Amino acid sequence: MSFSEDTRNELARVVPTARCCRLAELSAFYDLDGMLMGTDNQYLDFTTSSLQVARKILTLLRSLYPGIATQVLVMRSRSRRTQICTVRVLKSAEAQKVYQDLKELDYAEGQPYLRKKCCRRAYIRGAFLGHGSITNPERTYHLEISTDHSHAAAKVLAALHSFHLDAGIVQRKGSLVVYLKDGDQIVTLLNLMGAHQALLHFENVRVLKDVRNQVNRLVNCETANVDKTVKAAMSQIEAIRLIEEHDGLDQLHPKLREVALLRQQYPYASLKELGDMCNPPMSKSGVNYRIRQLKARAAEIARLYS
Ligand SMILES: [Zn+2]
Repeated sequence: MSFSEDTRNELARVVPTARCCRLAELSAFYDLDGMLMGTDNQYLDFTTSSLQVARKILTLLRSLYPGIATQVLVMRSRSRRTQICTVRVLKSAEAQKVYQDLKELDYAEGQPYLRKKCCRRAYIRGAFLGHGSITNPERTYHLEISTDHSHAAAKVLAALHSFHLDAGIVQRKGSLVVYLKDGDQIVTLLNLMGAHQALLHFENVRVLKDVRNQVNRLVNCETANVDKTVKAAMSQIEAIRLIEEHDGLDQLHPKLREVALLRQQYPYASLKELGDMCNPPMSKSGVNYRIRQLKARAAEIARLYS
């Protein structure tokens, strides 16, 4: 099962305790996939492709309206690969009542989002259950909710913004897609929706990825440094070999000779290490100065004899 399905299944089992939030979540299902049906609005239908979500809609309806008459219809495509579940409120009076309640939700003044925080969380959860998906964090960080209804998209977007989540919106094949791309923000949203298992998984993967990236960075960095050290040492040894061939190291100033001999003996020692081995010890910049003199002499030889 995909991470997205796992997350949705987990959220399908989260049933808010407060009545206000149950109604808010139901309203999200209605905004995304609900409709008053029949010429006289006899039915109220909620549709979803998921049996778990259908069960949740039923749970919400029954807890909000005890004794409500409902019916669940499941239609499968011929291949049986896809299905559409319809949760129907059967009686006209009850359908009207639910519809009225959903329309009369307590919205914040001048804002498309619900006034109470608890209800906004429930609304977002409902929208995610309706048409949300989340990419496996191993691949990339992406969570989205898509809908054909612009008013629903606007509500979801405003609700996310009200929690300071930096959600964006794009159009894709005629649908509006509200999305989050930032790992921290997705974690915040999973927490708001109550997807705690999914959150733990997401964070674990994120920590592992971070560690892996850090190790890679260190390894790359170290390899680069080693390469640099080896290259520098090779060119120094080559310079010393030239001097040895043409002048002989005995001709060098004793301080230069000491550094040259140590370098030949310890090709991979750092300048500081070479300095420590000198008698008396020499600073790193002192060693560097002498190595520059050796290389200058080698360059002179190369110019004169090639
Ligand atoms: Zn509430």
